[in-house]
Amino acid sequence: MASNTEPARPPPRAARGTGPGSHIARPGNDLAYNSVMKTENTSDRCLRFLFEEADIRGESVHLNRAYRDIVALHQYPPGVSLMLGQFLAAATLLSTTLKFEGKLVLQARSEAQIPLLMVECDHQLHVRAIARGAQEATSLRFDQLLAGGQLAITIDPTRGQRYQGIVPLSGDSLAHSLDAYFRLSEQLETRLWLAADGQRAAGLLLQQLPRKLAADPEAQQDAWDNACVLAATVTRQELLDLPGESLLHRLFHEEPVRLFPPAAVTFRCNCSRERTFNALSALDPGEIEELLQELGSITMDCEFCNQQYRFAREDLAGIVGGDQAKILH
Ligand SMILES: [Zn+2]
Repeated sequence: MASNTEPARPPPRAARGTGPGSHIARPGNDLAYNSVMKTENTSDRCLRFLFEEADIRGESVHLNRAYRDIVALHQYPPGVSLMLGQFLAAATLLSTTLKFEGKLVLQARSEAQIPLLMVECDHQLHVRAIARGAQEATSLRFDQLLAGGQLAITIDPTRGQRYQGIVPLSGDSLAHSLDAYFRLSEQLETRLWLAADGQRAAGLLLQQLPRKLAADPEAQQDAWDNACVLAATVTRQELLDLPGESLLHRLFHEEPVRLFPPAAVTFRCNCSRERTFNALSALDPGEIEELLQELGSITMDCEFCNQQYRFAREDLAGIVGGDQAKILH
């Protein structure tokens, strides 16, 4: 099935981690991997890498605390937590392919056990996520939790045009569905491997770059196929257990791979009192007036982080009448 709108074509991000300070790993030289591993926290971070002799970039991500914090806010059934972890890892990996400020949103809708699952990651690697209507979910399987659903991939720049592509949630995993998205949308070849266990989420992304190093398109395709074959040997356990450097060494130790400094991923909601007020402003003033008369004030909860915003009549003076006596008469 084709995208419903023009697909996004995010070129690889060049801003982060280029230049001096990068770590170069060559066959037989594990020092570069080790030096990063010893000095960096391996929890909640993205690790960007580049094949030195092929037009391929990549990213690995591990989410521990951010994932646990999100799941702890909602107490989802186990299968929902697993899906949410994979979506978080995927959104984080895909956001690293953006070259501008903004956010990437993955939104799954289905008539199965998870009616709605939504994950956002912005250019600062702030993530937030929610599943709605899934408290009764019993399955642990992707194809049962999200059967027959659709996945919307939205790229929402702070400035500029918003893009959205939609693909069916197909196959037996989110990664399969995303593969289909990239195949259909004529973007750079991109593959993902994802895993989550309720406590930890992790993923690996490979993306083909425009040809610069390969002698011809055929050589480029061979290098890409080879990298994908190597990456596909990764197990779920390895994705979850191995820090990024070890994982890349395990998979690509025969290839010269350059590692960039890791970037922290954090759970942060961008809700605010002002945004909530703006949402209230869009409602019918008559409805707000009724709620104020009934409840005395209006409390709005953020679905992502559970933050509460309470608005008394005087806070809403710009929307409804501020003078209680006038309203009653
Ligand atoms: Zn919030």
